[in-house]
Amino acid sequence: MKISQLLVQKKPMLSFEVFPPKSTSRYSSTIEAAQEIALLKPPFMSVTYGAGGGTRTYSASLAADLQRKMGVTTLAHITCVGSDLSVLDTQLSLLQKSGIQNIMALRGDITENSPAQDQWAFTHANELMMYIRSKYDFCIGGACYPEMHPESQTQKQDIESLRRKQDSGCDFLTTQMFFDNNILYNFLYKIREAGVTIPIIAGIMPITNTAQIKRTVSLSGTQLPRRFIQIADYFGSSPKAMRQAGIAYATEQIIDLFANGVFAVHVYSMNQPDVARRIQANLSDILC
Ligand code: FAD
Repeated sequence: MKISQLLVQKKPMLSFEVFPPKSTSRYSSTIEAAQEIALLKPPFMSVTYGAGGGTRTYSASLAADLQRKMGVTTLAHITCVGSDLSVLDTQLSLLQKSGIQNIMALRGDITENSPAQDQWAFTHANELMMYIRSKYDFCIGGACYPEMHPESQTQKQDIESLRRKQDSGCDFLTTQMFFDNNILYNFLYKIREAGVTIPIIAGIMPITNTAQIKRTVSLSGTQLPRRFIQIADYFGSSPKAMRQAGIAYATEQIIDLFANGVFAVHVYSMNQPDVARRIQANLSDILC
């Protein structure tokens, strides 16, 4: 099913993200975790793509396996970073043959292992979207940043990029994680004013351990609200308590989003079935 069809339903929905393994030996444990999440019967699951190499080999096969074996709609990520036209066409044709109908088209994270830019067919996500739209019949998603992409000079410029994605055939946008819903509401107001009308899926990251906090903030540039910092300070030294508090915080964020008309929420579940299961259980009467 195309995700654009799910999004017109305007009722609370919770989807989950998994990432592919770095090596063949980890494939079976990754697919097991992903399958456990699929058993929760989310409307869709996304599978990330390692722009620097590493996990990319397994991204398409994990998305295809999940869809075929578990019957869950998948959203396969693909990036400009490290992809020339032959890599892109190979991946896209493979995904199409596997029956996958949804692609998340991204520029990709640039790391020290990323191939040089002159080896990529496209520099920005919107160019990749235009290419996919011209040759394939996928529903196309893109990324957006309530707290601005770190490379953007101004929020106006950042929102202009979203307009460009929309004009290039993007069907929906998923947000970078955020921990203060007011930041999202403010962002939504601004993008709608600027003419970005496509559906937005809110990305929520349940923080379940203190190491994750540092990693998350340094990678995404996301602000942590005082309320969250206090929770982490107090419970951080007890792994079980921190896990429970992180899941409760994410659940509260999601309930507030639903209550404010943001119906589609994507959980960065990081291959943790237990986290996905507990959040979904907390919302069982809301999602039914
Ligand atoms: P772009 O849209 O190209 O934007 C990058 C910067 O360039 C921004 O500052 C933007 O304003 C500017 N810009 C955009 N278009 C133009 C243009 N035409 N001309 C000039 N400037 C422009 N990374 C991975 O490697 N693999 C993944 O699977 C993955 N999944 C993600 C999922 C989500 C929901 C999100 C939010 C991010 C994900 N990322 C992933 C990270 C993402 O690749 C990085 O944030 C990357 O730095 C930017 O990607 P983008 O698609 O937004 O790029």
